[in-house]
Amino acid sequence: MYQRVSHSARRFLDFMLPPTCPGCQTVVAEPQTLCPECWHTLTFLGPPCCDGCGHPFDYAVPDRTLCGACVREHPPFDRARAALLYDEKSRDLVLAFKHADRTETTRLFAKWMAQAGRDLLSGTDVIVPVPLHWTRLFQRRYNQSVLLAHGLGKLTGKTVLPDGLLRTRNTPSQGRFGRLGRARNVRGAFKVKPRTALKLQDKRVLLVDDVYTTGATLRSCAKVLRRAGASGVDVLVLARVVRGFV
Ligand SMILES: [Zn+2]
Ligand SMILES: [Zn+2]
Repeated sequence: MYQRVSHSARRFLDFMLPPTCPGCQTVVAEPQTLCPECWHTLTFLGPPCCDGCGHPFDYAVPDRTLCGACVREHPPFDRARAALLYDEKSRDLVLAFKHADRTETTRLFAKWMAQAGRDLLSGTDVIVPVPLHWTRLFQRRYNQSVLLAHGLGKLTGKTVLPDGLLRTRNTPSQGRFGRLGRARNVRGAFKVKPRTALKLQDKRVLLVDDVYTTGATLRSCAKVLRRAGASGVDVLVLARVVRGFV
């Protein structure tokens, strides 16, 4: 009850107080905007990049070029794109969105994602967010990926299936694992309800998450969606870890 009251009080205050920059809390003129200082510290990602995993290239390449890793083994999704480089600057923004109730930035993030994923979105039939286990959803009260999926749905008019995927196991946080451990940790952790599978038949799915780290969770989700009947799966995230990228 207390939490509910404090949440409503916070919403009321958000409405009454001047808008602040989600990066540093300084007052800004318009809601849903970053201050110029924070804006300049972010690295936006775009072409040229690997047509599969979206890893940025620092030189021009022909269309549909794949990075070495995707040539060796193509991911179970077709294409992945990210709006931002996940670094110490964007991390604060993402963490505030995930844990600190700064959910009013959904519209801004969805706009950046729609831009980064415009080639993907043109072929998308349904948008599906990466799910949280219900116990974690209970602690956090909202799933940041569902918010981003709805934000993209509103911008593009595409159908959103917020419970298109279910998380059947409450897996430990991925943060404590390396690449192989992460893949093992999420194996078999997702499923599609039979009734939802009907809505995925022969549909191109856009899978949405906040951060792409090693891609283990997104790979696992993409496999389940394909097995359920999706004709293709693309991935769109807010921010992406890029090893060795300066
Ligand atoms: Zn700022
Ligand atoms: Zn790649």
